[in-house]
Amino acid sequence: MTDVIAALRTALGAGAVLTDSGIGPRHRSDMSMTGRDLPLAVLRPRNTAEVAAALRICNEFAQSVVPQGGLTGLAGGANAKPHEIALSLDLLSGIEELDREAATLTVLAGTPLERAQNAAAEAGFLLPLDLGSRGSAQVGGNLSTNAGGNRVIRYGMARAQVLGLEAVLADGTILSNLNKMLKNNAGFDLKQLFIGSEGTLGIITRVVFRLRPAPRSTNTAFCALGGFDAVLRLLRRAETDLGGPSAFEVMWPDFYRFVSGHKMTNAQPLSADHPFYVLIEHQGSDAQSDPVRFQAFLEAALEGGALSDAVIAQNEKEAQSFWRVREGYALDTLPDIVNFDVSLAVGRIGAFAEDCRSRLAARWPDGKFFFYGHIGDSNLHITTSVAYAAGEGMHDVDKIVYGCVRDFHGSVSAEHGIGTLKRDYLSYSRTPEEIAVMRRLKTALDPKGILNPGKVI
Ligand code: ZN
Repeated sequence: MTDVIAALRTALGAGAVLTDSGIGPRHRSDMSMTGRDLPLAVLRPRNTAEVAAALRICNEFAQSVVPQGGLTGLAGGANAKPHEIALSLDLLSGIEELDREAATLTVLAGTPLERAQNAAAEAGFLLPLDLGSRGSAQVGGNLSTNAGGNRVIRYGMARAQVLGLEAVLADGTILSNLNKMLKNNAGFDLKQLFIGSEGTLGIITRVVFRLRPAPRSTNTAFCALGGFDAVLRLLRRAETDLGGPSAFEVMWPDFYRFVSGHKMTNAQPLSADHPFYVLIEHQGSDAQSDPVRFQAFLEAALEGGALSDAVIAQNEKEAQSFWRVREGYALDTLPDIVNFDVSLAVGRIGAFAEDCRSRLAARWPDGKFFFYGHIGDSNLHITTSVAYAAGEGMHDVDKIVYGCVRDFHGSVSAEHGIGTLKRDYLSYSRTPEEIAVMRRLKTALDPKGILNPGKVI
């Protein structure tokens, strides 16, 4: 047993320091499935003081620590190497306080997102942060990756929904500001350093979320459009006529044809011969008038020529079938898929998709390329399925797509983070000066470089 493990066992108790066969296989990798190794040990602290004690010891021994939440990330950010120690937030779980007057929810970092959402809903509030992995993703991980999801267009990214935060620095210092005020300009907004830095500057232990009133109605439509210009017109119209949609999801025709034609999806809301498809959702506060307004909005868009066709979900089940098309799980059945999560100025997404597709098709004439995403939030997902020689070919797909992103002044990561998988491409979206400042912040807060080394920068 190494000295650092012995010191950790003394401080946390043997049960909180797993090694060898005590480490479950799930600690090998996040959902990118790129992690190959089990860590040297897995720590399971039960409270902030134990997180601080663990980091103090690891810092003393210059021992690398990789924070692990629900392990639902897609960028390799939570994968540990065999000489690194994983710090699991699993036991730091629970709802601490729901403040009805302030409309805030205080939770521990290891709480699954869905549990926090349910706690808000039971009190008549909405915690708008929402993503597919809500059942197992933990709020600490959601924040350290600044998760996006489906309702960013209305409520912003994860960082926009946080009022207060507690985090532990590499040397064990507890930085606590469980602020509940919407307005607070007393000095630097330190919490934002920890949100989106993927565990490289500190480990988040507690969160104060800002809650919103729960919506009283949800209206969902599946639309067909003649071109990307029409998509943009519909989006602007939804902003003005509806006071903003809660989701605006776009699908290119190859995506729609493949997914809606697949038995896994079991839904085909519209015929498959249109150039573009949009799933639009509006949530409002008036169950009586909202559906009327929603229908009038779609009719006006049809008359004005922005829409070619549209179908409104008549019930929750039908709305779910629309979302099933957009979620596109059928893509996972294709061989050798590579998924991308990029963002671009909304007006340029149509041109980007055309250019990117032709660059990919020039290299792989028989390849399949699917474009879809949260276009209202400027977020485009791309799934490629091409026959490549292992290793090298996969790099080529990355180079072509990220090269195109660079040329269009977009971002190589819209919502999944950088982790290890996109680290080599960070400079495509950030200047050398920006990356130098990131390194200076890292050195200032974690001089020995023990926190999630090799990730992001
Ligand atoms: Zn997404």
